Amino acid sequence: MKRIAIIGGGISGLAAAFALEKHRRSGVALEYSLFESSPRLGGVLLTEHMDGCLVEAGPDSFLTEKPWASDLCRELGLGDKLIGSNDRDRKTYILVKGRLVPIPDGLMFMVPTKILPVIWSPLFSASTKFRMMREWFHPPKQSAADESVTSFVERHYGPEMVDRLADPLLSGVYGGQASQLSLRAVLPRFAEMEARHGSLGRAMLAARRKAPKVAAAKPLFTSLKDGMQQMVDAVVSHLAASSLHINTPVQAVQRQGSGWLVSAGYDSDHFDAVITATSAQDAARLGLPEELSAILGGIEYTSSVTIALAYNRQVRQNLPPGFGFLVPRSEGKRLLAVTFVHNKFPHRAPEDRALLRCFLGSARDPAILDVPDEEMLDVVRRELRHILNLTAEPLFTRVYKWKDAMAQYNVGHIERMQAIERACQQLPGLALAGNAYHGIGVPDCVRSGADAASSVLQELGLIPS
Ligand SMILES: Cc1cc2nc3c(=O)[nH]c(=O)nc-3n(C[C@H](O)[C@H](O)[C@H](O)COP(=O)(O)OP(=O)(O)OC[C@H]3O[C@@H](n4cnc5c(N)ncnc54)[C@H](O)[C@@H]3O)c2cc1C
Repeated sequence: MKRIAIIGGGISGLAAAFALEKHRRSGVALEYSLFESSPRLGGVLLTEHMDGCLVEAGPDSFLTEKPWASDLCRELGLGDKLIGSNDRDRKTYILVKGRLVPIPDGLMFMVPTKILPVIWSPLFSASTKFRMMREWFHPPKQSAADESVTSFVERHYGPEMVDRLADPLLSGVYGGQASQLSLRAVLPRFAEMEARHGSLGRAMLAARRKAPKVAAAKPLFTSLKDGMQQMVDAVVSHLAASSLHINTPVQAVQRQGSGWLVSAGYDSDHFDAVITATSAQDAARLGLPEELSAILGGIEYTSSVTIALAYNRQVRQNLPPGFGFLVPRSEGKRLLAVTFVHNKFPHRAPEDRALLRCFLGSARDPAILDVPDEEMLDVVRRELRHILNLTAEPLFTRVYKWKDAMAQYNVGHIERMQAIERACQQLPGLALAGNAYHGIGVPDCVRSGADAASSVLQELGLIPS
């Protein structure tokens, strides 16, 4: 009987456990133990119900085009609980000089694919519009070296595009800043487009011409009717309860003979393989070999805060239509983004409620976790008053703080991943899962957990390579 330890009970660790459980049930001779330091499983996935509203504390959905989270949900019997975003009402605004300006139609991330809506949009100045037209003649550029998203976007569209679109969009997804994020890790497709076509606009149109016609476009985001917690609860219900150890932080993982000694609390136990599914920073503190720990510890993290505010029917009627807005750094606000949750997904708020979800923190505001909740709420309400003219008292508020939850894919990320891979090759029976390596979103984390499980099972000779 081979024994496998999983360290970390967020969605990455749970996905690894689920993959192992499936093999165990199919007769593979293995047992696993999942160690989670906190009192609950799910990591940053947490859903709460308040006053008829469904409040997501962490992720509220995942990208539909990345299949691994939806596939897991279907395997868990949650296929009929998957819901798509209300894309008919999809409209996102950017705060420009204190006013909300809609992102024009036909802008794919930052690449214009329709001319007129961009020409008429007040989102960009005349000089950026001129840069967009000139971009059409951008020559192909092959480069082996990584660069920041800022330097790439500036080369194509100028600094205003970075400030108004690239930086706010990426700070929403990665909690990072475009000036630090790696083009090759974060926007690999754009690097390929530039190498092949030069102009991103031309590349986008060429890709569109080649794309097969689909009957109906899929919604951009997918979630679960009862919230993201539903996925956690379903995974947990499929796992052997005796394998799950909450309130059990792992202090150390040491190589011992052909296996690993895992120390948690006052106990130490021998395992044939270990999957770390914590942040890279936490993995670096487990006493793994120095070379690996140094690279893991070098991956930076940022913290996020989400704040839910619920309002009455009148507020709902007066809010602009659409999914919400993003706030560029140059606007000098603490708010990074606000989602109009009641519009984005069905089943999130009763008809007579407006539910707003505000994002703060990220690389832009590292001091946010030191701000007391009441003060944070005052700041958010003041900024909402300026931006939305929203003066009403909220029916309820809820503040969630996520310390060092978002791994930063900074310039050089791909090389760091290669160095980690080389270090892991010297350490048989060790696999890394989590949001620090090959994708930060929930689907990527699900895939990372399943891949880590396959990798250790292959190394142990339990499944074919
Ligand atoms: C506010 C927020 C909003 C987000 N929104 C989205 C979104 O809408 N869509 C999307 O796709 N992604 C989103 N993400 C990203 C995504 O949710 C995360 O990247 C993903 O859930 C991380 O999962 P994980 O299991 O790797 O890590 P975590 O959820 O951080 O879990 C790691 C677990 O390891 C435990 N741990 C740490 N050290 C130890 C130890 N020594 N021993 C035992 N246990 C330990 C921790 O307690 C924790 O439970 C969001 C993230 C945040 C923070």
